[in-house]
Amino acid sequence: METVICKTCLRMEVLCPHCEELLRSGNVSREYLAVARKLLDLEERGLSELSKVELRNVFVTDRMMILLLNPEGLQALRGRIRQIARVLEREFGRRIRMVGDYRDIRDFLEDLIYPAPVITVNTIWVPDGTQEIRLIVYASDLRRSGLSKEDVERIARVVKGVVVRVTTV
Ligand SMILES: [Zn+2]
Repeated sequence: METVICKTCLRMEVLCPHCEELLRSGNVSREYLAVARKLLDLEERGLSELSKVELRNVFVTDRMMILLLNPEGLQALRGRIRQIARVLEREFGRRIRMVGDYRDIRDFLEDLIYPAPVITVNTIWVPDGTQEIRLIVYASDLRRSGLSKEDVERIARVVKGVVVRVTTV
């Protein structure tokens, strides 16, 4: 498994100066560190599918914890996702979702709000010359995904560096 934190630091209590700085600057959260440690532990106990996984980010919302993984890693975990999610749910007391860091914004948003179907995704130009992504989804569907509009907008902004506006109908 690949993480932003080095493997030695995942195994030790004390962090090296590099990883300590990542945490101190807020580039890496405490939750990310905790999830990375748990996943490495699972990999070393024999969950070898995790060797293809890159843990790119971890987001915490009111009810959930979202793990952002490389798409290839997510694919490699198929069949193990429920098992891993249950372990993490016991550990962190939240629903766990694993989402693929797809390059295409539409693919990414579809995975993020699963099982809510996307009605439309449009890129629009706002008067100041910047781009915005407009995502339209049924309110009742979005509720089933466990995410709020604000969660989706915040996560998409951090992951893709774009302004996303969610409209529910
Ligand atoms: Zn380190």
